[in-house]
Amino acid sequence: MKRITVLGATGSIGLRTLELVSSFPDEFTVAALAARGSTVERLADLCRKYAPEVVAVLDPTVVDRLARLLGPGGPELLGGPDGLVTAAREVSADVVVSALVGGAGLLPTMAAIQAGRAVALANKETLVMAGELMTRAARERGVPLLPVDSEHSAVFQCLAGHNRGDVHRILLTASGGPFRELPKDALTRVTVQDALQHPTWKMGAKITIDSATLMNKGLEIIEARWLFDVAPEQVQVVVHPQSIVHSMVEYIDGSVIAQLGVADMGVPILYALTYPERRPAPAARLDLPAVGALTFFEPDVAKFPCLRLAREALERGGTAPVVLNAANEIAVAAFLEGRIGFTMIPEVIERVLGEDPGRPLVSLEHCVALDADARARAQRWIEARSGGPSR
Ligand code: NAD
Ligand code: MG
Repeated sequence: MKRITVLGATGSIGLRTLELVSSFPDEFTVAALAARGSTVERLADLCRKYAPEVVAVLDPTVVDRLARLLGPGGPELLGGPDGLVTAAREVSADVVVSALVGGAGLLPTMAAIQAGRAVALANKETLVMAGELMTRAARERGVPLLPVDSEHSAVFQCLAGHNRGDVHRILLTASGGPFRELPKDALTRVTVQDALQHPTWKMGAKITIDSATLMNKGLEIIEARWLFDVAPEQVQVVVHPQSIVHSMVEYIDGSVIAQLGVADMGVPILYALTYPERRPAPAARLDLPAVGALTFFEPDVAKFPCLRLAREALERGGTAPVVLNAANEIAVAAFLEGRIGFTMIPEVIERVLGEDPGRPLVSLEHCVALDADARARAQRWIEARSGGPSR
C-alpha cells in the first residue's frame, strides 16, 4: 500500500488523483488531505470516502464546520497556512501530491521535501518561484520530484534510459489555447468566459487563463529548466493544437523521442504515483486514425507576450521568476474578477518585473518576502489603472 497525501484535494488535479486512489484500492490509501476550504461539503464527502488521518484547510473558520459535519472519530483537523505545512511534513506518506494552485503551495511542498517525502509535482508555480532551492533540497535528501504536468511527464518518459548528456533540446508542446487563431487586435475584447474555454483540457480557472495567455507555457519552460537541469535555451516550445504529442526530447544525433496519449491528466498522475512501474490506466486509449492529423506551429510571441516575459525572467534568474509569478497570479485574479482586460495581464507583469533589480534568491524566507512585495506592487498598479481597490 502506498500512502498518498493530496495537497489541493478539492481541485482538478486533486480530485483526479483521488479517483485513481478509488480505482486502485489495493495499492493506494490516503494519508492526509489539504485544501483552501471554500467547499466544505465537498471536503467532508472526501473525508467520508477516503478516511484521511489528517485534513488541513487554509481557512481556519472551516475547521469547526468540518468537525460538526464529520462528527466524532473523524480525521485530525488543522487550520491556517501552518496546518498545511504540518500536514505535508508530519503525516507519514510515500508520495505527496503537490496540487495546490500558485504560491500557496511553496511552503507545504518544501516541507514535504525537507521531510524526505517523494513529491508528485503539479504545482508548477512553486518550482518557478524557488526552482533552485527546491531541486537542491530534493537532491540533498535524495527525494524524487516526479512530474505531473503532462508535458513534463512526457519529457521524463522520453528521457528514461538515455544519457542526460546526449540531450540536445526539450520541445514542450502547447495547445495554443482558445485564442490561437484570433487576430492580435481582437484579444483586447475577449471575455473571462471566452478565456475559460480551453480547447483540449478541463482544468482549474487559474491555469486555464494561463493557457489562454500562454503564460502556462512560459511557466512550464522554467519548470522544465529545473526539473531536468537543462540550460534555458535548451527548452523550446512548439504549438500543437491536438494535444496528442505531450512533449519531445531531441538528442544530439537528431533523434526526436515523443510521448503521445489522450489528453487525460489521469495518465501522468498515475505514472507519478506508480513510477517506475506502470499500471493499466482506467482511461480512454489513443486512437490515431480517429485523430487523423497532427499539426505543429511556431508560437506567436508578439501576440502572446507572456511567453517572452517568462523567458526573460528565466534568463535573468534569481528574483525575477518570483516576481513574474507573483505579478501573474495577481493579474490573473484581477482578470477573473473582471477588474482588468485580458491584454492587461502581460502589461501588469511587464511593469512589475521591470522594477525588479534582479538579485540572487538567497533563501526561502527571501522568496516569501519578495513574493508578497511583488503581489502588493501588482495590486497597486492594477488599482491605479482600474480606478479603485478590489471589491
Ligand atoms: P484548482 O483550482 O482546480 O485546485 C486548486 C486546489 O488548491 C484546490 O483544492 C483549492 O482548495 C486549493 N487552493 C487554492 N488556493 C489555495 C490557497 N491559497 N491555500 C490553500 N489551498 C488552496 O487547480 P488545478 O487545476 O487542480 O491546478 C493545481 C496545480 O496543478 C496548479 O499549479 C496547476 O498549474 C497545476 N496543473 C494542473 C493541471 C490540470 O489539468 N488541472 C495540469 C497541469 C498542471
Ligand atoms: Mg502542462
